[in-house]
Amino acid sequence: MTARLIDGKALAAQVRAEVAARAAVLAAAGRRPALAVIRVGADPASEVYVRNKVAACKAAGIHSIHESYGDSLTEAELLGRIDALNRDDAVHGILVQLPLPAHIDAQRVIEAIAPSKDVDGFHVASAGALLVGRPGFRPCTPLGCMRMLAHIGMAQLRGKHAVVVGRSNIVGKPMALMLLAADATVTIAHSGTPDLAATCRQADVLIAAVGKQRMITGDMIKPGAAIIDVGINRLPDGTLCGDVDFAAASEAAGWITPVPGGVGPMTIAMLLSNTVQACEQA
Ligand code: NDP
Repeated sequence: MTARLIDGKALAAQVRAEVAARAAVLAAAGRRPALAVIRVGADPASEVYVRNKVAACKAAGIHSIHESYGDSLTEAELLGRIDALNRDDAVHGILVQLPLPAHIDAQRVIEAIAPSKDVDGFHVASAGALLVGRPGFRPCTPLGCMRMLAHIGMAQLRGKHAVVVGRSNIVGKPMALMLLAADATVTIAHSGTPDLAATCRQADVLIAAVGKQRMITGDMIKPGAAIIDVGINRLPDGTLCGDVDFAAASEAAGWITPVPGGVGPMTIAMLLSNTVQACEQA
């Protein structure tokens, strides 16, 4: 079997066009969606991510406010900025780019963001809303993965076994909850899972969110499975690869996402969608 590609770039373009249309409706009513993006410190990867998010906002008709601070910014000063943005009615979404410098408690900062503006979906209130099935902002990466599954006709997963490899608060855990909400039978694997290969081979839907290059090998794939590769790993030659051995997995899988050009573009598209949703709900 040779897997069919789930083209994240093309699907993200479709989502962004939908978002732009919603933003235009709001703008026509005098409400321009706005996202505040805060970056602290000199992490070069963060700089690229923030630049991409700001550019994506512009293309979708979302106003972005980009605040960039040096390493010397204190936690109290950052909390002060968030408080001001929380109270600013012209700002609908607030995103603090992670990682933050070590002297700042990232969780405290995330929880200072008003849940109504938590477009990253990382606030404990957003996590709780997801857990109990109430409306709230969903973390962008797993939300993008669900959109990819819907795109290939797998919005409903009753009778399917989904395996999520990785249990972080921003990807693995919310991913598992979203799959559960779609009626999948869900297994979460992590570094303490004894026979990862056997666990993965049960997966009709396999989500890899680990951060270890090509650790999911072809023999770990159930024939016909849908493989969503969240991992982003930089190889010594500077190119990117995922957590899945794409060439080998493509031989067995029914569907597969590439890296790059898979989940990454979807993550930004869902951030735009959440920001417009925040404005619609404001
Ligand atoms: P974390 O480092 O927070 O979590 C990694 C998870 O992988 C942990 O739960 C860890 O288990 C698990 N793990 C580590 N080693 C193994 C192993 N040998 N077998 C099974 N599980 C293992 O990473 P993130 O969730 O933040 O990100 C995961 C990957 O996704 C990274 O490559 C990241 O760059 C990428 N990413 C991509 C995004 C995108 O837009 N495409 C967005 C966000 C992340 P344990 O808990 O036991 O330590």
